Amino acid sequence: MDYKKLAEILFPHINETVDYYEEVFPKRNLEPGAKVTRLGPSPTGFIHLGNLYGAFVDERLAHQSNGVFFLRIEDTDEKRKVEGAVETIISSLRYFGLNFDEGALLDGEKGSYGPYYQSNRGKIYQCVAKYLVEQGRAYPCFCTEEELEEIRKKQVEESVNTGYYGKWAKYRDLSLEEVKAHLDNNEEFVIRFKSMGTEEGTFEIDDAIRGKLTIHENYQDVVILKANGIPTYHFAHVVDDHLMRVTHVVRGEEWLSTLPIHYEIFKILGWEIPVYCHTAHLMKMDNGAKRKLSKRKDPELGLGFYMDLGYHPAAVREYLLTILNSNYEEWRIENPDTLAEDFKFTLEKMSNSGALFDLDKLNNISKDVLLKISAEEIYEFLLKWAKEHRSEIAGILENNKESVIKLLSVGRDGNKPRKDLMYCEQIFDFISYFFDEHFKIVDGYPENISDDEAKKLLKAYMGTYDHSDDQSQWFEKIRVISQENGYAAKPKDYKKNPDMYKGHVGDVSSVIRIAIVGRASSPDVWELQQIMGEEKVRRRVEKIINK
Ligand code: GLU
Repeated sequence: MDYKKLAEILFPHINETVDYYEEVFPKRNLEPGAKVTRLGPSPTGFIHLGNLYGAFVDERLAHQSNGVFFLRIEDTDEKRKVEGAVETIISSLRYFGLNFDEGALLDGEKGSYGPYYQSNRGKIYQCVAKYLVEQGRAYPCFCTEEELEEIRKKQVEESVNTGYYGKWAKYRDLSLEEVKAHLDNNEEFVIRFKSMGTEEGTFEIDDAIRGKLTIHENYQDVVILKANGIPTYHFAHVVDDHLMRVTHVVRGEEWLSTLPIHYEIFKILGWEIPVYCHTAHLMKMDNGAKRKLSKRKDPELGLGFYMDLGYHPAAVREYLLTILNSNYEEWRIENPDTLAEDFKFTLEKMSNSGALFDLDKLNNISKDVLLKISAEEIYEFLLKWAKEHRSEIAGILENNKESVIKLLSVGRDGNKPRKDLMYCEQIFDFISYFFDEHFKIVDGYPENISDDEAKKLLKAYMGTYDHSDDQSQWFEKIRVISQENGYAAKPKDYKKNPDMYKGHVGDVSSVIRIAIVGRASSPDVWELQQIMGEEKVRRRVEKIINK
């Protein structure tokens, strides 16, 4: 068989050679050890935690080593393309502090290793496919769906592995004349890789996360170019990651099973194999069992979830680091005030058996992270979020800037600071009592206090209320009201002699808190009253008294 001739017949329009592309995309001029990583999402419009998790690894590897982190859009599947998806990918990752150095960017492509959209790289894939045909390592396959099904059936009958390989690969050894006859007949064809692997063969490869792996060789003649000339993932991955000079391929563990294909193609092309880093699936606990996060069942899988609820990017980053590197939490305890960026991220400390994602833990971490951010900054973040996601509350936040900042600050100083704030939606809910149009009484009075009793206590409260009292004067008055109405002035007195009292000062304070804040728990009521102003305090209490 004259493979050169075959290649010419199949790819008459391809004049470039692989060497030409090797020259156009030379080895990058980076310092020794610098890593080149890429994110290769499909533009489906859905960007998820797994993407962010992987992107985080890419970004850290590249930027910790003065390397390059770029974005390549894997848009070879027409059916899955969604308008605006690329913008969503870029802006979502930017929200979480991940910025690309190169690739498909919002204002066009940047970098000398493009095009960065796979749909614009057709000629490059075809050039490499042509080369493989010339080498006798790829061939046109005219198999129809029916023929493939036929082959499969026979394989099942004979109890052998299914697929297109060896003696089953019916178009593998056509003569030039036979190929020509099929082409003259205008038959559709794909280009398949001609594998030399065996079903028994194995090889070893180092995965930077999983260590040394011994895996089965590829022996299937996989499709590398589809009938429309578009590459499959397997082929595009090898061609792109080589010609874009990627040093570390970070991708999900679902690609491990097809790694043998990639390995064989890299080998036959004589290209250096990148360092593979197969990340573990993100898991969650569900009814006591670990399972993969699912797009259908778990809204928290999509990144939109975090942006819509207004999670602070620093909190999400901090949390991701705890699941990305097993030594992060320890480091954080030792370095409470250091920037997360100063942590030395390593692939060796990554989990390879499923990373557990836990929303409660994210919320807890978020509380700690927000505590380190000033109330002014949280206010700005909240306002920006409201403008983008809850336009109906942006106005009141804007008109009450000073009060909101004060509300956000209450109880955050001292050695036992309050940790009330988690994410914007919850933060707004947390301070919403301040705004009359959002104020509602959510909690009930303590069990031992009836509505009438509460009114009586509130009347007494208003009777002695002086807005200029300082905190201890104010509380002293509550003790007095408590005593005058049959409540112990100190909880411990009540505990000693519960039969002597209706309750204790804590119950009376609760009634006041509920009248003013609407909830049984809140930061210090005296401080809140000072922020709200006398008029609002009196109005709220009077309203209950007069009900
Ligand atoms: N387009 C592939 C995906 O979205 C990329 C996998 C890879 O990073 O190689 O899963």
